[in-house]
Amino acid sequence: MSLTVRQFPCLSDNYGFLVRDGATGRVATIDTPDAEAILAQLDQLGWTLDLILNTHWHPDHAGGNDALKKATGATITGPAEVTRIAPLDRVVRGGDVVMLGETRLDVIDAGGHTLGHIAYHDAADHIAFVGDTLFALGCGRLFEGTPEQMWDSLTRVADLPDDTTVYCAHEYTASNARFALSVDDAPALKARAEAVFAARERGEPTVPTTIAAEKATNPFLRAPLLRPDAASPAHAFAEIRAAKDNFKG
Ligand code: ZN
Ligand code: FE
Repeated sequence: MSLTVRQFPCLSDNYGFLVRDGATGRVATIDTPDAEAILAQLDQLGWTLDLILNTHWHPDHAGGNDALKKATGATITGPAEVTRIAPLDRVVRGGDVVMLGETRLDVIDAGGHTLGHIAYHDAADHIAFVGDTLFALGCGRLFEGTPEQMWDSLTRVADLPDDTTVYCAHEYTASNARFALSVDDAPALKARAEAVFAARERGEPTVPTTIAAEKATNPFLRAPLLRPDAASPAHAFAEIRAAKDNFKG
C-alpha cells in the first residue's frame, strides 16, 4: 500500500488523521480538529505537512486550518462551506480529484450532516475518509441536509468496495452500539456490539471500520430492512435517524 495513515485522538472524541504518500513523502491531514495535536504528531513522525483536506466546515474539522497553515504553509482543500469559519485555498465537490503526491483521492459528495460535506476515497489503497457522514454503527446528525440527501450520501459511501477501510472522525461507537441494539436484533450486531464494548473497556479505538462491517451491522445502512413498511429507503432511514435523535440510552 502506498498511503500510510497515522490515527490519533483529538479533543474529547475526535480522531485526527495524518496520511503520507509513500512514493513522494507528501503529507496531508484529514481535517484539523486540533492544530497543536497535529503539529505534535508531525514532529514525532518527522513529517512535513503539505496539504490540509477538510471534510466539512464544523469547528472540530476545520477549526485548526488557520493555525496549521500559518505554522506549516500547507495549502487547504475542502468544500466551499469551510470559508464560513476558516481559510480555504481550493474548493472541491463530489466528482473532483485531489492528488497527494502520486496518491489519487476521489472526492465523494457526502452532504447531509452539513451541506457540502465530502469524503475522500483512495481506491488504489482501499481507504476512505468519511468525516461525520458514516460512523462505526452510526451516522452523522442531519444539521443542514435532508434525510434524502443523507441517504444518498450514505449509499454512495456504502457502494465502495466491501474491503474498504473506513476512517470516521469520532469515537462514538459504544453509544451507537447501544442504540443499534435497540432497533436491530441481528446476531452479527450483537457479536459486534460485545466486541466494541470490550475494546472500549480496554481503551482501544473502534475506528477504522470497513464497508463490509457497516453493511452487515450499521442500523442506518440497514434501515430499509429494519423498516420494511416505510414509503422508500430514504423514509426508512429518516425513521431510524429520528429514533436515534430521541434515544436516551
Ligand atoms: Zn460535524
Ligand atoms: Fe465532528
